[in-house]
Amino acid sequence: MQLKVVFLGTASAIPTSTRGLSSTAIVRGNEVLIFDAGEGMQRNFIEAGLGSNKKTKIFITHMHSDHCIGLLGLLQTMSLQNRDVPLQVYGPELIGDFVESNMKLLHFGLTFPLNVNIIKEGIVVEESDYIIRAKLAEHSVKTYSYCLEEHERPGTFYPEKAQKLGIPKGGLWHKLQHGEQIEFKGRIVRSEEVTGPKRKGRKIGISGDTRVNDELVEFFKDCDLLIFDSTYGEDHKDKAAENMHSTAKEAATLASRANVKKLVLTHFSARYDDVKVLAKEASEMHPNVVAAEDLVVIEVPYPQ
Ligand SMILES: [Zn+2]
Ligand SMILES: [Zn+2]
Repeated sequence: MQLKVVFLGTASAIPTSTRGLSSTAIVRGNEVLIFDAGEGMQRNFIEAGLGSNKKTKIFITHMHSDHCIGLLGLLQTMSLQNRDVPLQVYGPELIGDFVESNMKLLHFGLTFPLNVNIIKEGIVVEESDYIIRAKLAEHSVKTYSYCLEEHERPGTFYPEKAQKLGIPKGGLWHKLQHGEQIEFKGRIVRSEEVTGPKRKGRKIGISGDTRVNDELVEFFKDCDLLIFDSTYGEDHKDKAAENMHSTAKEAATLASRANVKKLVLTHFSARYDDVKVLAKEASEMHPNVVAAEDLVVIEVPYPQ
């Protein structure tokens, strides 16, 4: 299944002419998972062609305006486009009040069922082939980091092994291929008897606004892709600590310790016209770093 990350907004606090406020989408097969919805993110959402009527979940990391105000416009646009598929929103306590009060104040209704889920640390989404976990980050207000973890997939199917057991091609093969056990001629045949070793799924982490700490190193352990708060460069290290954000180099230090394969820096302060310097500082600590840009797409392959 194809999985790609699309950056819909990579600025912190103040947008620039080239960077919108925080929002990142993971497009996994036919599903769209959106992490944060800063003001104006819907322009890039439309530009990226993510679709208003798809199976969608929206995760809000925290209730700072540059991460959640865009949700209102997105919901409204989806309604104007006659969305009818239910939409799930996840976030900290105030997200429910925020959506409800604003819908009243701004007099808008929705064409689709909206479910707002107030989350706690732990597994917040459980689908048949992946989970999403939340973990408290370290910011000036309650903030959640998120991790998408795909389940292991069944190993490579060996038709000759199934043939050897006399199992006829068709539905039974299909079940075995997909990791199920079958009953054949009075005996249980396990998928493992006709497939190779299980194959790993992908793990994608999203930090939200945060400092780095040991608990997050653990939370993001072995991520194939980690998207991390990199508001500042080393020139404003003190500001990063004071405002409860991270520098690009701090993000990369965490990524190294967590054995992350690829690190993407995002949430850049408007003071940096060119974020190459941040990527360079991070590269000193991690071998595979890129700086996100609005509308950049990163495909995440299955781990080898
Ligand atoms: Zn922020
Ligand atoms: Zn914040």
